[in-house]
Amino acid sequence: MDAVQNIISLMEVPVTEKDRELIEQAYLFAAQAHKEQKRRTGEPYVSHVVAVAENCAKLGMDTETILGALLHDVLEDTSTTPEEIKTIFGENVLFLVEGVTKLGHVKYRGRVRHVESMRKFFVAIAEDIRVLIIKLADRLHNIETLQFVPEEKQKRIALETIEVHASLAGRLGMGKLKGLLEDHAFKYAYPKEHEKTVNIFTERVPRAQEAAQNAENKIVKTLTDFKLESQVDSRVKHTYSLYRKLLKHEWDVEKVYDIVALRVLVTNLPDCYQALGLIHMLWKPIPGRIKDYIALPKHNGYQSLHTTVITEFGIVEIQIRTHEMHEIAEMGIASHFIYKETATSGKRVTKPNWLDQLKELHGVIKNPSKFLEHLHLDLFRDRIFVFTPKGDVIDLPEGACPIDFAYLIHSSIGQQTHAAKVNGKMVALNTKLKNGDIVEIITSKNAKPSSKWLDFAKTTAARKKIRTYITEHGGFIERFFTRNQ
Ligand code: MN
Repeated sequence: MDAVQNIISLMEVPVTEKDRELIEQAYLFAAQAHKEQKRRTGEPYVSHVVAVAENCAKLGMDTETILGALLHDVLEDTSTTPEEIKTIFGENVLFLVEGVTKLGHVKYRGRVRHVESMRKFFVAIAEDIRVLIIKLADRLHNIETLQFVPEEKQKRIALETIEVHASLAGRLGMGKLKGLLEDHAFKYAYPKEHEKTVNIFTERVPRAQEAAQNAENKIVKTLTDFKLESQVDSRVKHTYSLYRKLLKHEWDVEKVYDIVALRVLVTNLPDCYQALGLIHMLWKPIPGRIKDYIALPKHNGYQSLHTTVITEFGIVEIQIRTHEMHEIAEMGIASHFIYKETATSGKRVTKPNWLDQLKELHGVIKNPSKFLEHLHLDLFRDRIFVFTPKGDVIDLPEGACPIDFAYLIHSSIGQQTHAAKVNGKMVALNTKLKNGDIVEIITSKNAKPSSKWLDFAKTTAARKKIRTYITEHGGFIERFFTRNQ
């Protein structure tokens, strides 16, 4: 039972004797059910479900999730019936296994099917986030072993991983999982770009590491002198994330300051700002690169202070946050499962509050087509996700209208917007878009931006382009009107 022992040792939540028995039972059940099957690697199939359970354990998940992970492929691939699972492991575990099985039917066939798959994922999130976490853990193991998959399938799976799974992990704040999924998929999705990025990476990392190490020593000394308790280490950027940044800067690596970044972890929130102050006493920061994601967290809940300083060793990016913020940055929504130290009692307490919210939510959603309207997860607060007819997901602020959507697709589409369809029906251009809407823009060569659009366009990008157009092309009255807004 080495496999079971290993899973349990990776779990970050308390495991009772009863839990241990259930995990053993699920392992034996899966091994029996899959006994005729082998992985492409030649290993027995059960090794895959064990790896998925291990991934879930590392993500801090509870016993039911581990059971769901061990059993996640039995309905799909074996003669096991739902009733058997329910009888032995209970209704909750069956719910998880069925949830993962339904998601399994989603195949990424280019962007056309993207809408459908994203919708299914959102349903899964609304019903029980653990379904999604098992699915992501499953995908991680599949992408880690992608070299064994026939070549013609590799690219499709890799692209799907980046566009669906990694992006969802990112939305849920699971930074570590997102990075792993992307890095494993990168080479298969974009082989040439991967090679180019790896070359830049290999050439740059040693120098960046040396600068970071020297800066680290100096920071540790200063923080200690000022009696600020901290833990400083460095992190090397994920290769896919480096690639995205290089694209943004037209492959000019000189503009990427965080190939190696320093992470300063402190005990509490005031210490974050004090550490930032002390670091700015040591070195001058680059203006415009000080980011306060503590006061203004990212949409996925990420919190940290970022600064880029000019040291005698080179330019170094430094990220400052508390241990708790760090855990959330790495684990995101999964971190809610992990038992946390409380300052007063030193006792460990769990707080999966959002799980209760989700259960309530599940009760509210009777009509599946309405689910997105009821999805009030904090993570998605103030943001909506709409789709192009081809299935691209477009992320917009709440209250955005088809004009915002059109400009986000391309400014030339924005400029020539004539009309819009939402879910197949013609709508007014000032219609507020809702989560899950499929939006189609009808352009016309004769259409041009109108100052009226400024009454309802919500995004800065669209408003700026409308203003610019009117100033450049508009008549006197319209120009006058714009200036006086
Ligand atoms: Mn699987």
